[in-house]
Amino acid sequence: MTVGETSFAHQPFEGIATFGHQPFKSEPGGADVTILGVPFDGTVSGRSGTRLGPRSIREQSMCLWGYNNALQVAPFKDLKVVDAGDVRVVPPDVVATHRNCELAAASVLESGSRLITLGGEHSISLPLLRAHAAKYGPLSVVQFDAHPDTWDQEYVGHRFSHGTPFRRALEEELIDPDGFVQLGIRGPTGSAQDYADARDCVTRMLTTDEIIDTGVPAVIEEIQNRLAGRPVYVTLDIDAADPAFAPGTGTPEVGGLTSRELLQLVRGLAGLQLVGFDLVEVSPPYDPSGITALLAANLAFEFLSLLAVQST
Ligand code: MN
Ligand code: MN
Repeated sequence: MTVGETSFAHQPFEGIATFGHQPFKSEPGGADVTILGVPFDGTVSGRSGTRLGPRSIREQSMCLWGYNNALQVAPFKDLKVVDAGDVRVVPPDVVATHRNCELAAASVLESGSRLITLGGEHSISLPLLRAHAAKYGPLSVVQFDAHPDTWDQEYVGHRFSHGTPFRRALEEELIDPDGFVQLGIRGPTGSAQDYADARDCVTRMLTTDEIIDTGVPAVIEEIQNRLAGRPVYVTLDIDAADPAFAPGTGTPEVGGLTSRELLQLVRGLAGLQLVGFDLVEVSPPYDPSGITALLAANLAFEFLSLLAVQST
């Protein structure tokens, strides 16, 4: 080694903040995996700020070392990963933003690349599911979230918001109704009807308490048995984590999963036919130490690692 060299490629504080120091490439093509940001928070019902999520996650991702010891892969070496920057958002227009998001996602998928999307708020899963379902057909979905997001209308007269994406996706037949699993649901609701309505929409809802009572390995086994052989899309709302681990989010709910339990559950998806991921609801204004974005960057790294496992 010469003076100034280190045993890893980059210092965390060097360079322009792309995901994991991977090259910026705005035009699709020539990549195995593309990272895309959607800096949008136009419909959030709680505290806003997720428009700043992609930038903050990228900054924390510069701290990633590169080798995943649990899964024994080095995704930045095993895969050609590029950061395509951000979708053009239209802050006052959720429909136009969703259209731009769907078009950007579709062009990445058409190029033969897998897509990992960084939000932004949870409404963006709808256009992402549209793009993935257009390629793969109706999708099984694993949703990590404190909230079901299956309301018909969160705001009367408005069909699209971060509380409704999965109701719309079911209506549009983007989701296989026999393969929709929710993990980490919890917290007080307006009434008992909220969960009753949600359970009517999903195949299997596991609350945080049910996950802990059942045990993470048994939950993983159930998911593996239920979703084996199906195309699986994974959506992770960072509020699935307890606010002790992820305070930087708009609608925090106490009593959530630890960061380690989340990592174990995500790694437990290895072996499924994984077609896409999104990670949403990181709100940097409520994340003074960057710990939420750091967890988000590491979870996105686990997604990447699962794709590296899949490619070997
Ligand atoms: Mn949520
Ligand atoms: Mn959500």
